[in-house]
Amino acid sequence: MKEESKLIRTQAKRSENREHAVPLYLTSSFIFDDAEQGRAVFAGEEEGNIYSRYSNPNTTELIDKICMMEGAEDGLVFSSGMAAVFASFAALLKSGDHVVAFRSIFGSTHQLLTTLFPRWGITHTYVDASKPEDLEKAIQPNTKMIFLETPSNPGLELVDLEWLCKIKEKHPQLIISVDNCFATPYLQKPIAYGVDLVSHSATKYMDGQGRVLGGAVCGRADLIKEMMFFIRHTGPAMSAFNAWLISKSLETLPVRMDRHCASALRVAQVLEESQDVLEVRYPHLPSHPQYELAKRQMKQGGGIVTFVIDGGVERAQRFLDCLEMFLITSNLGDSRSIATHPASTTHSKLGEEERQNIGIYPGSIRLSIGLENIDDIVEDVVRALEKSRN
Ligand SMILES: *Cc1c(COP(=O)(O)O)cnc(C)c1O
Repeated sequence: MKEESKLIRTQAKRSENREHAVPLYLTSSFIFDDAEQGRAVFAGEEEGNIYSRYSNPNTTELIDKICMMEGAEDGLVFSSGMAAVFASFAALLKSGDHVVAFRSIFGSTHQLLTTLFPRWGITHTYVDASKPEDLEKAIQPNTKMIFLETPSNPGLELVDLEWLCKIKEKHPQLIISVDNCFATPYLQKPIAYGVDLVSHSATKYMDGQGRVLGGAVCGRADLIKEMMFFIRHTGPAMSAFNAWLISKSLETLPVRMDRHCASALRVAQVLEESQDVLEVRYPHLPSHPQYELAKRQMKQGGGIVTFVIDGGVERAQRFLDCLEMFLITSNLGDSRSIATHPASTTHSKLGEEERQNIGIYPGSIRLSIGLENIDDIVEDVVRALEKSRN
């Protein structure tokens, strides 16, 4: 079966009730037939659920689907994307270890590296995606992990995963960890290049309808096993309900992504034609500085378009206020189109220069293109461009 079919056909084992859709397993623990089975399951000699902090039929089904798409040996799901990202560091690193990260990463991931981990003796060095040659120089004897997002948020800069994974020829001990939330495994499969771990905020495209939080990490079985110990004893488990919902959503991920991407490309083309726009970033737009790489690495360009409006902060904010259908929120990957002004919201804590380093200008606007009719989306954008002129 092909990926799209497997996403629909992978499901928890049918019960004696012969249900068609997968039931919701709202149970904290699981019972054993007898004391001996309890012993064997606890000892790991027999497979089976023990307690929903460890596993549950709904979370297992979701993990199976994510691992199938990513081509991963094993995986785990979490209560949120940040719980997943946090565990991918905290379960595998110890005091004295060093992380090399590409600079444009999700705000809370940046806080982990710069505020929390130094308390526990874990240090980091940032590298600019525009200067990938600095990567080698940043690696120290105690470097354990390289962490990155591609494409980045909101600058939509890419890191060449094939090039990146070659670093392991010289540094085989490094764990390469990629947050694949923006692209989704439908568009980009980092493990195929040799990446060790992939993390996700399932809150974004995986749910795709802005309803629940969720996260996932998948990759090398030995690393996931170490992480399993960590989550068993620290408890960032995903609820069965969220797993059930997100697993259902994955049935439609390919169809939704096809539509998000087609509409986003169209919006990017329209913006590129506008005299009110200084620059447009979209991975599959030929004007993107890494267009060739984007074509190779991503099946389609994704659902996010970033552009710089002529007129700075004031014009950018006026543009947002002139939108009628797009909603102003910092979320993304929703069926509803969303507009964000990063400089005054998601990235307002950074200094002007830090923002420019990661491609955020006063007039930068990030659009998360939804599933509405493309004519309505384009009309709203064009109207807001015109109305925001003065
Ligand atoms: C949203 C997001 C996260 C955090 O996920 P939550 O589910 O909100 O905790 C991490 N990385 C990226 C790239 C994101 O967009």
